[in-house]
Amino acid sequence: MTTLPGLTPRKLGLVIDLDTCVGCQACVIACKGWNTQNYGAPLADLDPYGAAPRGTFLNRVHTYELSPPDAAAQIVHFPKSCLHCEDAPCVTVCPTGASYKRAEDGIVLVNEDACIGCGLCAWACPYGAREMDPTAKVMKKCTLCVDRIYNENLPEVDREPACVRTCPAGARHFGDFADPDSHVSRLTAERGGIDLMPGMGTKPVNKYLPPRPKDRLPEVDVLGPLLAPVAETPRGFLGWLDRALTALPGGG
Ligand code: SF4
Ligand code: SF4
Repeated sequence: MTTLPGLTPRKLGLVIDLDTCVGCQACVIACKGWNTQNYGAPLADLDPYGAAPRGTFLNRVHTYELSPPDAAAQIVHFPKSCLHCEDAPCVTVCPTGASYKRAEDGIVLVNEDACIGCGLCAWACPYGAREMDPTAKVMKKCTLCVDRIYNENLPEVDREPACVRTCPAGARHFGDFADPDSHVSRLTAERGGIDLMPGMGTKPVNKYLPPRPKDRLPEVDVLGPLLAPVAETPRGFLGWLDRALTALPGGG
């Protein structure tokens, strides 16, 4: 068992806007790229162009079609990564202390040197947010790009998670939820941000902004008004056609 730090002075996390995410997968690629090519340990990428590609991704985007009975059908793209829960069961279940939550900012991390690859944390996480790396044989997960956000070697504008920096739709936001005036706290309050599966009692830090309902097109007769004058007094080509057809034997 590993203990949690209790209330942290900062609660860093993401707000993901399900209304504006277009499912382009740019955040998935940026995450994989940063965590393989830069400060992070490489993420497995096996048989990438073969028949059975598999690998480790810390962020995945799932796509669903909703067909509500009383509203128009819509597609929802759902990005999923670790939610950096306040009551993280993946931490408390860890037998070695490899999984831990940082006391200073609430980020949940894995110390890969202490991980024995037992997979208990993956069983404990109700969101499927952990990935056993098939090459390194250790558990990996979103780090909130801890090696970017405090990295003074990077320009200040780049000191946010790679997924947030990359998202072309502006659907991902990073900040401190412990500060009620932060961008992410205000966005969550204004747009009715929700916890994922609150009944699990994990108190996720990350929030999701629900998709706005789409308008149902009113059932209007688009051609009716245009054809009405023709129907009453046929003119032009349609008038000629009408007269020609009427003149045929049996035509009218
Ligand atoms: Fe742990 Fe899963 Fe919560 Fe992340 S989302 S902190 S892996 S329980
Ligand atoms: Fe801890 Fe690693 Fe086991 Fe997960 S797989 S519970 S991080 S030792």
